[in-house]
Amino acid sequence: MKKTKDTGVFTDLRKAVEVKNAKIKSKYTDIYPETITEQWDKTMRVKGEMVNLYRFTCTCEQFTQSFLPEQQVSNLSNSCIHLFYLAKKHYPKHSRTSVIMRSFTEHGACKLIYRKYNEYEFYIGVGENPEKPWVRIFFHTLENDYWSDFSFNTVEKRWSYNSRPECGEQLEMQIFTALAQ
Ligand SMILES: [Zn+2]
Repeated sequence: MKKTKDTGVFTDLRKAVEVKNAKIKSKYTDIYPETITEQWDKTMRVKGEMVNLYRFTCTCEQFTQSFLPEQQVSNLSNSCIHLFYLAKKHYPKHSRTSVIMRSFTEHGACKLIYRKYNEYEFYIGVGENPEKPWVRIFFHTLENDYWSDFSFNTVEKRWSYNSRPECGEQLEMQIFTALAQ
């Protein structure tokens, strides 16, 4: 019997939208802080707010208003200056949590695409406005377990302050491929 090939034609448009949303969702990844010990499971007062770094919660408006019910607790996309204040005391300066939280606190959260390339791994940070040509790159060097961040302009094909990761050119190819998917 001849097999009918799935042509991807939807008779119900809602179904098509669902599939499209699922695809968009899978392109991006959620990111969580590196695990910390339970000794950090205590609520501390930071600049008038009650913060728990272990549970990754804060009472401030920035935190409570941007928290989405479907989101898992301790998603780094939902952090604030108070959590970052405590995180700086616990996480090394060039840990993934510190570097990404610093960027999110200073420039706002962004959606992240994860990629691995040879001995490197990195996240491409895409802002809410797709017209904006800048993407953030969170870059990990396995050798010394060192995270750093960079900005890349996808239209002018240049790195901010001329500061680029060690495999800069190959990485640019990876960025364009990831963004096109
Ligand atoms: Zn807060």
